[in-house]
Amino acid sequence: GAVVELRGVTKTYRLDRHVVPALRGVDLAVRAGELLALTGPSGSGKSTILNLCGLIDTPDEGAVHLGGVEVPPGDEAERTRLRRDALGFVFQSFNLVPVMTVAENVDYPLFLAGVGAKERRARVAAQLEAVGLQDHADHRPDALSGGQRQRAAIARALVKRPRLVIADEPTASLDSVTATQVLDLMRERGHAEGAAFVIATHDSRLTDRCDRVLALRDGRLQ
Ligand code: ADP
Ligand code: ADP
Repeated sequence: GAVVELRGVTKTYRLDRHVVPALRGVDLAVRAGELLALTGPSGSGKSTILNLCGLIDTPDEGAVHLGGVEVPPGDEAERTRLRRDALGFVFQSFNLVPVMTVAENVDYPLFLAGVGAKERRARVAAQLEAVGLQDHADHRPDALSGGQRQRAAIARALVKRPRLVIADEPTASLDSVTATQVLDLMRERGHAEGAAFVIATHDSRLTDRCDRVLALRDGRLQ
């Protein structure tokens, strides 16, 4: 079954008296472990799809399903719970906490979830090893390269074993060799953990490394 599914989704923004259609009748299903890339020009609706899949926004029409169950659009408490327990996020600018070490950044979601110290240590160490940062556990983010920071962010996104990771332009602040390595790491880690990745990217050099690429134009999937 699909990890996340958009069914007949439309989304319209209203700015003053202007009506801006962002998505028009989008159907999308993402499988477990799949790395799906959304491409398309600026304003085509990529971020809107990520915000819907990430339960940050709700559709005007249609439905969002997570693990085969419709996400109740009006139940903010349930949406927050699902966002915390089933989703991970990776950002263009990494969003690591600068005063925490790499290990503490990766640990933080587990700490917030109340996971016990022994289990946290094991899971943080395993994630750091999987992204090749075991020797940088005690460094602060500003001592790392951009690629290493994004690897730390990927470890943090996966440490709670989410079903789905959302990433908006995750390689945009990286040089092209590093961007390719980070993309390959996301795909490999997603396959290994059974977590789907949905990423928005402008970078056409990366799209042949994804499991599937969908192009958006004017709020419609091509
Ligand atoms: P992309 O990520 O592909 O650049 P977006 O999903 O951000 O596209 O935007 C789709 C359309 O919705 C664009 O026309 C954009 O201007 C509009 N839009 C997005 N967010 C808002 C918002 N908060 N308020 C008004 N219009 C918005
Ligand atoms: P505390 O003193 O409260 O245990 P630490 O700063 O030592 O806090 O570590 C916080 C968490 O970060 C630990 O529970 C552990 O999960 C993780 N951690 C810290 N250092 C490492 C490391 N070198 N390797 C793996 N995990 C680590």
